[in-house]
Amino acid sequence: MYAHITFPVYSFQSFTYKIPKKLTNQINTGVCVKVSFRNKTTLGYVVQLSQEVSYKGKILPIDSIYLDDYCIEKELWETLIWTKNYYLAPLGQIIKLSIPTNFNKKFKSNIEKSVSITKKGISEIFNLNKMPAQKKILVFLRENYDKEIKIVDLSKINTNYSSICKILIEKKLIEFSEKQINPFKNYTSHSKVKIILNDEQKKAYTKIANKLNKKAFSPFYLKGVTGSGKTEVYLKLAVQALKKNKSVIILVPEIALTPAVFNKFFNVFGNKVGLWHSRLTNSEKGWVWQKLVKKEIKVIVGARSAIYLPISNLGLIVIDEEQESSYKQENPSPRYNARDVALVRAKLSKSTVVLTSATPSLESYYNYINNKFDLVQLKERYGGSVYPDIKLINMKLHKKDEFQFNRHISKQIINDLKNCISNNEQAILLHNRRGYANIQMCKKCEWIFECKHCSTSLKYHKVGNMMLCHHCNYKTMLSQKCLNCGCEELIILGYGTQKIEDEIIQFIPEAKIVRMDMDTSKYKGGHFHILDKFKNQDFNILLGTQMIAKGLDFENVTFVGIINADVGLFLPDFRAGEKIFQLIYQVAGRAGRRKKRGLVSIQTYNADDVFIRAASNLDLDKFYKIALKQRKELFYPPFNRVTRILFKGKNKKNILQLVNIIFNKIKLHKFNIIGPSIAPIEKLNGLWRYHLLVKIDQQKPYSFQNFFVNKLGLKFLEKSHNGVRISLDIDPITML
Ligand SMILES: [Zn+2]
Ligand SMILES: [Zn+2]
Repeated sequence: MYAHITFPVYSFQSFTYKIPKKLTNQINTGVCVKVSFRNKTTLGYVVQLSQEVSYKGKILPIDSIYLDDYCIEKELWETLIWTKNYYLAPLGQIIKLSIPTNFNKKFKSNIEKSVSITKKGISEIFNLNKMPAQKKILVFLRENYDKEIKIVDLSKINTNYSSICKILIEKKLIEFSEKQINPFKNYTSHSKVKIILNDEQKKAYTKIANKLNKKAFSPFYLKGVTGSGKTEVYLKLAVQALKKNKSVIILVPEIALTPAVFNKFFNVFGNKVGLWHSRLTNSEKGWVWQKLVKKEIKVIVGARSAIYLPISNLGLIVIDEEQESSYKQENPSPRYNARDVALVRAKLSKSTVVLTSATPSLESYYNYINNKFDLVQLKERYGGSVYPDIKLINMKLHKKDEFQFNRHISKQIINDLKNCISNNEQAILLHNRRGYANIQMCKKCEWIFECKHCSTSLKYHKVGNMMLCHHCNYKTMLSQKCLNCGCEELIILGYGTQKIEDEIIQFIPEAKIVRMDMDTSKYKGGHFHILDKFKNQDFNILLGTQMIAKGLDFENVTFVGIINADVGLFLPDFRAGEKIFQLIYQVAGRAGRRKKRGLVSIQTYNADDVFIRAASNLDLDKFYKIALKQRKELFYPPFNRVTRILFKGKNKKNILQLVNIIFNKIKLHKFNIIGPSIAPIEKLNGLWRYHLLVKIDQQKPYSFQNFFVNKLGLKFLEKSHNGVRISLDIDPITML
């Protein structure tokens, strides 16, 4: 018998090994084995078994099976295989999402060493009169025999404690013990919280819970208006799942939101719940992962990659705010969409899966009107709060003001903010652009300062007075002279969050503003700090980028302002309208979550745009009607599938050559192609970029993959061709 083994690298190749007789019964797909590879012992995964091989050379045997914890259960293994086949990514790389460490190193969580005296130590303590330092430590340990003494505690007795301990250990007078430290110990401890549901929530809960009790794939769509208490419903479902001895995955779209949801779950489940996202430290990941494979953790709250965790006996998956684009992994490969993977995993594990949102993605909306999901609705706002009042502010009418005073916030919003603050209430301001201002431009020749490596303009950041590329992080000092004509009259155009902050302070000196964007929250725990302080009402205005639009719930917020509803409206992206609609609709939902009716003011230069109008009327039906019609006309999802092929390289001519070869091959197979065209970001990190979009029949989901594997071969993705690399994005979300 032979086994084909894959290694955790970006390669589609697998390697053949002989299965020794003694292991025949234990080797199966998904098993982690030790093998010798290029004269090194390496860990790999069995992807396939075969009776015979055509290879005539020497075939090495498998050394042994690695730890059981590292072997992947059937249901998860099949999910990984699906990911490989659908997204055309190397399996070895996908496995790393389930075993998220460098395979060869065991996960280490933080270890605390404690020390205690041995029996021998107690009886020989008096023989140490000539060694007072050693004796002193022994006496201390004897006196604290019943307590846990950490090694570092001995520093109080002797600063040289570590070398003294070494001697005492050798003499067997003391011993060490090791304990893992819970890196999440800062979370408030387990206090029983009772989940109280209103009638509508109870109905929704009961409908889903009935299916949860059976072992069958049951997809639900829980559509609930913002503030209707969806979280309480799925929290209760998780309780029910655990009662039935099933485990649960809760996916949350934004890392910034995971701590808040995790806390809610922690209050109910205590140590049975684990947190998972890419910003955890290795020891935090180690802690969670080990508890998970030991089945001590039964509920995972996490960002997209949590969908691949090795959790046994899965019974419930919840995808909170399923419409969020953050469920899509963009780069690097595997470019998966966790929402879609969740549906596949639920099917394979015969689980109940619940997608939730107030504003379903167009794809999901289309799926539930076609009965692919069971629709469950929450129409009342939790605690009886009412919808906010929404005003559109046509900025074209304010243009004069703006140019005269170089202002970006209308009088209207300034007044709204003043009112809100004087009532001791809080406001949220959305401005989807970080930095101080947008760009630096020459007044004379209109030349714009661009990144050296990317075809995008540099963004001015007031802190440090520098220009920064938001794509590759290239930094340079603010220029004094136009690099094109040498003119010294340079202006800064556009405006980012930092500039808005300055403007507010200028008009409302008493405002206490806190800003949340990539710049203020990139350090670990940054988000959490800012939100916590805002919740405690240390500030009265929270100003931020789209990060603040999602899922935040502050009782005292009664006003929401949107500074620029238009950002992104004209991007060459078929989802642009949907994205803007979602953003406005969601952030509007942050106003007036409790007793008082909230107010939302939206600034726009496109007050007639259908999507902006629909959002400002909170008119979901109209939005779906328009958007579906557009997509149908243009053969876009949900009516067709889209795959993007991106070409990158230093030499434009070489790129075009390859683009044309591939274009002609695809065309022969009668796919509907858009392009070839220059990507909207033409140059990135020093590489030129071209792309092709291929539209694929909805009914034949694998037709493009099959074409690619058979006609071009997966190896095509592994290496460059004349310095040009190509990458595939199946069902892309952004196309920049
Ligand atoms: Zn750049
Ligand atoms: Zn110039």
